[in-house]
Amino acid sequence: MRKRVLIIAMAIIICGIISIGVHQLSKSRTFQVFGELIHQVDTNEKVVALTFDDGPTENVPDILAILEKYQAKATFFLIGEEIITHPDEAELIVNAGHQVGNHTLTHKRMIFKTPAFIKHQIEETNQLIRQVGYEDEIDYRPPNGKKLLLAPFYLYKHNIDTIMWNLEPDSYFTEPQEKMDYVMEHVSQGSIILLHPMYDQTGGQLEVIEGILARLAEEGYSFVTIDELKNLAR
Ligand SMILES: [Zn+2]
Repeated sequence: MRKRVLIIAMAIIICGIISIGVHQLSKSRTFQVFGELIHQVDTNEKVVALTFDDGPTENVPDILAILEKYQAKATFFLIGEEIITHPDEAELIVNAGHQVGNHTLTHKRMIFKTPAFIKHQIEETNQLIRQVGYEDEIDYRPPNGKKLLLAPFYLYKHNIDTIMWNLEPDSYFTEPQEKMDYVMEHVSQGSIILLHPMYDQTGGQLEVIEGILARLAEEGYSFVTIDELKNLAR
């Protein structure tokens, strides 16, 4: 009897360790099992890449205006369904010369899903991105940064890079000033910065973007797309 209890207890502990491991792996910013994953780039140039997740939404014109003011190019990871709702805004991003990436069709976590689901989510979105006129390589960013085995394997097979980030001020702070200070404290050459300006109604995200651009420009940084950043790797 005692032996049985012991075996059950051991099994529970092992399952716990495995599930913690799977959870850690699924949210890792720097590692996945298959394919290329980039979270920052080692470069001699004084450059950073701003990346915006989700949307497009009606916030796009305001975001583009700020980027233009600082002659900055950025990378937008768009959601397929949102491109269907806001095709004009998606086109504005493409026409302004920014990079567009794939953030799946419906922004579901891409773990514990079937291969058919993964293929549909990524391929439909790539097609929508092509329909709004984007012609360059399409990189991928997983919703909520989540990935395990099947999505990375699909991306590896199709030669699609996964782009993560090394600075995510939105995860730690709510006040624009705190977010800017955090970025300025931790930024380095080749940093990839994640921001979420698409659903913000307060103007706080625009303030953060403008603050980061102004302060980094003052320090001599320029702002490139992920593709440009990859080409500047040491
Ligand atoms: Zn997202």
